[in-house]
Amino acid sequence: MFRRVNMFVLLLVMTMAATAQAKMKALIIEGQNNHGVWPKTTQMMKGYLEETGLFSVDVVTTLKSGTDPDFGPTFSDYDVVVSNYNGSPWPEGTKNAFIDYIKGGGGFVLVHAANNAFGNWKEYNEAIGLGGWGGRNEKSGPYVYLNSEGKLIRDATPGRGGNHGSQHPFVVTIRDNKHPVTKGMPGQWLHEKDELYDLLRGPAENMTVLATAYGSKEFGGTGRHEPMIFTVDYGKGRVFHTPMGHGIYSQECVGFITTLQRGTEWAARGRVTQKLPGDFPTADKISKRPSGN
Ligand code: ZN
Repeated sequence: MFRRVNMFVLLLVMTMAATAQAKMKALIIEGQNNHGVWPKTTQMMKGYLEETGLFSVDVVTTLKSGTDPDFGPTFSDYDVVVSNYNGSPWPEGTKNAFIDYIKGGGGFVLVHAANNAFGNWKEYNEAIGLGGWGGRNEKSGPYVYLNSEGKLIRDATPGRGGNHGSQHPFVVTIRDNKHPVTKGMPGQWLHEKDELYDLLRGPAENMTVLATAYGSKEFGGTGRHEPMIFTVDYGKGRVFHTPMGHGIYSQECVGFITTLQRGTEWAARGRVTQKLPGDFPTADKISKRPSGN
């Protein structure tokens, strides 16, 4: 009996150890952002990733302004890096290490204003596909959107990159329902109030648009179908990009939460094991999980 109990305990411990080991390691970068809610949104995103049971999450915080000379995480310790950062340039060595990490097969996820960062950093812009503000213009690459026939347009018209109209809830339209991130999502779902980024531009190479949102002119949009969920293959790495996530309310949307959770798993592993939650939004019904913020 004693021996059997011992064996049971041993097996239990081994199983727990294996489960712990199997967790993917994620690193969230924060510290500077023109969105003052960044300390809260970082904690929300950390919680969303942890609640899947798939990730252990570290957070690294830079100095509040200027280039942080000590910012230099060991990216290769992580399966995926998530950026909630929009601020001063990183030290050169850190920039190089970050690009090497993605090119070598690392995962990268960027949310909302993270695509405003580093307008002049060539490799970062190649990795993220599209960005806005930060001095971006026609030299950054084309505007990219879908036309009314659903065709991807690369528009080299001169002009600034990055714009949004007034915040409002908007419909997200799935354009690729076979991709692991969007598989099973309703063809259209209503996203909680957010900034609908438009006029993003960049190299947009090796980019796959999984979902768009229509920038209605009623709210100051472009009248185009703007990329809202997309991926970039960069070297051996996978980049997952959503311009959604402006406010706490935007990030309480179950559509945003699911997109982040699945997108981060995909960036880390190239597959998604998470089922669509039962409270996912529909075409005409917003679904939120109050964060208490
Ligand atoms: Zn914003």
